[in-house]
Amino acid sequence: MALYFNRPLPKTIATSEFGWRKIKVGDMVVPVWQRHLGQDLRASIGTPGRVAYLGHISKVWTSLRAGLCFEITHTSCSLPGFLVQSVYYHLHKLFYRYLQQVSAEEVVYETGNSGTWTSGPHLHWGVKVNGIWIDPRLVIKELNNVKRVIN
Ligand SMILES: [Zn+2]
Repeated sequence: MALYFNRPLPKTIATSEFGWRKIKVGDMVVPVWQRHLGQDLRASIGTPGRVAYLGHISKVWTSLRAGLCFEITHTSCSLPGFLVQSVYYHLHKLFYRYLQQVSAEEVVYETGNSGTWTSGPHLHWGVKVNGIWIDPRLVIKELNNVKRVIN
């Protein structure tokens, strides 16, 4: 399956990648492993954000941990039998509503620090194929721009 997503925030630093990591509480690392289901991109509150690929907003919600969130369904890039979706967490503002179409060129939201599961302003974004989380690095074009700070 070939997918060519953009990084939602092209010039930011990835502070946490997809995979297993130790839980952080503030600056303290707790010796408990958790699965991190996306990529964290450091961005100050109010940074204009885009989506990884054309699609429509298939869900908008607020959760205690993830704050203001939305999900995009990328119908046009889905091969038969594959449902491809991406999610965006901890937002400050969302400029579009449920079921609206958005392209990868538009400013769709502002990044923030909403929700309790964050140790500083950043965007968490994730990619799902048929409901299964995959590593966003598998589908983004600009792999070489990703600087890893911690994993
Ligand atoms: Zn995250």
